[in-house]
Amino acid sequence: MRKAGLITGGALVAAGKAIHEGMSTYDLDRIVHDYIVSHGAKPSFLHYNGFPASACISVNDTVIHGIPSKTEKLKKGDIVSVDVGAYIDGYHGDSARTFAVGEISEKARALMESTEGSLLEAIKTIQPGMRIGDISALIQQFNEERGFSVVREFVGHGVGRNLHEDPEVPNYGKAGHGPRLIPGMVIAVEPMINEGKAAVRVLPDGWTVKTVDGSLSAHFEHTLAVTSTGVRVMTAPEE
Ligand code: MG
Ligand code: MG
Repeated sequence: MRKAGLITGGALVAAGKAIHEGMSTYDLDRIVHDYIVSHGAKPSFLHYNGFPASACISVNDTVIHGIPSKTEKLKKGDIVSVDVGAYIDGYHGDSARTFAVGEISEKARALMESTEGSLLEAIKTIQPGMRIGDISALIQQFNEERGFSVVREFVGHGVGRNLHEDPEVPNYGKAGHGPRLIPGMVIAVEPMINEGKAAVRVLPDGWTVKTVDGSLSAHFEHTLAVTSTGVRVMTAPEE
């Protein structure tokens, strides 16, 4: 799984380096696609339930599952979430990151920092014996304390031979509840955090998820393996 994770993480680094004002989200998807394929893996998202691209690219008020498009161009001040999966030797990696296009507003910066901060804080605390609800509660509290809201309709998940497996890993909930983490479990933890209200809606294309109030949304994700002593970040771009 580390092999899949390394390619996944590397594809996100390549995406981050390529992002610039005026670029289409289609061209950004091509960079992710070419990176994954040139490293001998398959893009996990391409044709997954009919998804037409290798990366989900979600700009500003798009929360997740944005479909790359030749006509959608990145503008200075945008935030763009890139979600990537790679499949190799029978296993998937799944990771996401929100990038800034040039200079962004202070509020956008704070939203990105809070979302990523909650993921990093979760990674610091994960160890065997902990419950899924402990992760959920930590992420919820971390972001709500900073004035942001947690998307309810979409959650993290187990990952392995399938892209989405049990257990669900919500970004909200109660400490002390839910399944216990045991060594060998691999989960994708992925806070999806809105600047304004938590409510989201799915566009008629059946994929694109947007905030109802039009506020910005950020998304950070890592595939994490529970070890006997703690956690290993499977989608870290390097050791
Ligand atoms: Mg993902
Ligand atoms: Mg995921």
